[in-house]
Amino acid sequence: MNQLKSMQYTAAPVQGGYTDRILEVDLTSGEISIRKLAPDFKNKFTGGRGYALKIIWDETSKGTRYDSEENILVMASGPLGNEPRFPGSGKFIVGTISPLTGTFIDSNIGGHFGPLLKICGFDALAVRGISKKDVVLMVDADEGRISLTEAPAFGEEIDQGGLTYGDALIKEVNGGELNEDIAVVTTGIGALNARFGIIDSLFYDKRRERTRSKQAGRGGTGTVMRFKGLRAVVVKSSQPRVQANNPVDKEGVRRAGAELKKVLSKEDPKQLRLGDWGTPILVEYMNNIHCLPVKNYQYGQHSEAPTVFADVFLNRYFKGKTPDGCYLGCNLACAKGAEDITLTYGPLAGKTVAIDGPEYETLGAVTCMGIFDPQFTMEYNWYCDEYGLDTISMGVTASFLMECFQRGYLTAEETGYDLSWGDTQAADRLLQETARGEGLGQICGQGIHRAKSWVAEKYSNRTGTPFDETMAELNKFGMEVKSLEFSMYGTKESLAQQGGYGFSLKGPQHDEAWLIFIDQVNMELPSFEMKAKALKWFPLIRTWFNAVGLCKLPWIDVRHPEAADTDNPSQNQPSLNYYVQYFNATTGSDKELQDILDDSERLQLLQKMINLRQGKGTRASDQIPLRAMGPVYLNEYESRAEYYEDWLKEQLGPGDGLPDSAEEKHQMVLRYRQEAYQKLCDSVYQAKGYSRDAIPLKETLQKFDLLDEKAENLLKEYGTP
Ligand code: SF4
Repeated sequence: MNQLKSMQYTAAPVQGGYTDRILEVDLTSGEISIRKLAPDFKNKFTGGRGYALKIIWDETSKGTRYDSEENILVMASGPLGNEPRFPGSGKFIVGTISPLTGTFIDSNIGGHFGPLLKICGFDALAVRGISKKDVVLMVDADEGRISLTEAPAFGEEIDQGGLTYGDALIKEVNGGELNEDIAVVTTGIGALNARFGIIDSLFYDKRRERTRSKQAGRGGTGTVMRFKGLRAVVVKSSQPRVQANNPVDKEGVRRAGAELKKVLSKEDPKQLRLGDWGTPILVEYMNNIHCLPVKNYQYGQHSEAPTVFADVFLNRYFKGKTPDGCYLGCNLACAKGAEDITLTYGPLAGKTVAIDGPEYETLGAVTCMGIFDPQFTMEYNWYCDEYGLDTISMGVTASFLMECFQRGYLTAEETGYDLSWGDTQAADRLLQETARGEGLGQICGQGIHRAKSWVAEKYSNRTGTPFDETMAELNKFGMEVKSLEFSMYGTKESLAQQGGYGFSLKGPQHDEAWLIFIDQVNMELPSFEMKAKALKWFPLIRTWFNAVGLCKLPWIDVRHPEAADTDNPSQNQPSLNYYVQYFNATTGSDKELQDILDDSERLQLLQKMINLRQGKGTRASDQIPLRAMGPVYLNEYESRAEYYEDWLKEQLGPGDGLPDSAEEKHQMVLRYRQEAYQKLCDSVYQAKGYSRDAIPLKETLQKFDLLDEKAENLLKEYGTP
């Protein structure tokens, strides 16, 4: 490999979960440097998302776009990342200014990269600038060398990929060998051509004897990576992982991890059974409660849904090799994969591949297109990962275009082919075109927010309907907020999840508030007040997981048996106590749960300030499409007319009667739902210390030591004196 720049270094030791070092690379100048952090940096910003937020807030500006030289791509684990004795410690985050939303996005991702980056001596990697040619950054702790090399070429087919490229690269830099000492992040050609490019995280799995992958899916982090000319990052260290975090209290870490592992192994088989089934189990749950996205979220249930239930994948694809963890020591091990699948779609039809997935989100993206075909789902999963496309944004944007086709906003002449629900050939063609930036794929790759204008213009030109009128209609079912596509939960019947999506700082991703299960399956948020409180509490604790380098599933998806005896069973505090113990034992701090929530609140406020700076922070930016609140069109209402009538009766006062016509009842449902959402905005903003326009009050910022001159000036722009 042609080396462009190289420096020798000595990996800083990890102490109490931190190295207090950031590796900084400027791809324009080729400069590589190591930044030493002041001791209070970690106390204020924790790690992971917190570090990315602080760097982006300090070092980018209002004018920074995703493709600006000054945009920064940050990859960071956290103090609790890398501890095989504690479940779910392989997560790291990728944060940057998003090509979709124009504001801060981060996506969390599993695999061995985050832990190895830390063992190589860095709490975070921050990449600035743009390289003229594609480069690979290599951090080799064994040889004490950091280098930038020209990205090697492995042949046209592999060079277009993410999975295949990463696999070839590992072999190239490791003398043809695969082993656990090396991990790679990379992405494929789709990330260059679409705004929703992902990052693949590749690592070697001894049991499967191949590389496996996890993805940072949301918001276009892979697109930023490719625009920077960063083809891949390789991290390498042969240092053993156990105790590499050098915790202050080794026995405390062991004890907390052992307790949580015990809960997982005893309780998961009685609850969701994620270890056996993986997240595809959620398809059945969501279908049962009418929350599975079908045909662009028009419906929440479908008679063909059982063809993509978890047992189908388990019996047909996953057999013999489960369970899989995405990092060492995770005994929940919900990740799933399949070997020797022969592709039947796309340009690589006939090729045999291994496929990691599908996760529930990918399944939901496929049912959203009206497709209930397990083989197509597997291949859609593989192609999106290989090309570097977010399965969620790809599927939801395709679904939006399909609904435009259904309702006559688009014709086959305009799209180039029929875009009918359930048509796997059309869905595959659109995926392939999106990856290559060809045909309708050029529009699809821009995401729904931008596709809406294109559709409105076409329709208005064809029919003479005013552009604004058409846009108003498309806004009702274009499933995006802050220009990010919804993830895969139908929210019509869950006010809590509507808020979970609408108030989410990065856009409608359940990462910040996954309340659908608690609200609709467990029915643990029956009152308005409980929903509003949950919308303050859950995003705080979930932010903490993204700051410390941990997976949330072992906490939120497996209920501790003693949780039922607590005031808030849905918070699962008995398990959370193990996390607090683990944090204190690792870092030597003496925190309680409330301290951790306060640390998270500071990070959320910082993110809120970035959103305000980038024009995505006010109440207007939290508004959700009508489709997220209720049935937009009569066909949706009529599909559950009896249910909606009963629901309306519950809302009406004694003596109030229901109107006669279905149309009037339909409009009444929508009116009630819109009013409830606005009331929720008021209530949650107040609880968070915001104004009615969702702007943090000065005293709120002051409480978290964030009210400096920069913040004051920003508040002034929004009329705060
Ligand atoms: S619970 Fe699943 S996603 Fe989380 S770390 Fe374990 S295997 Fe990975």
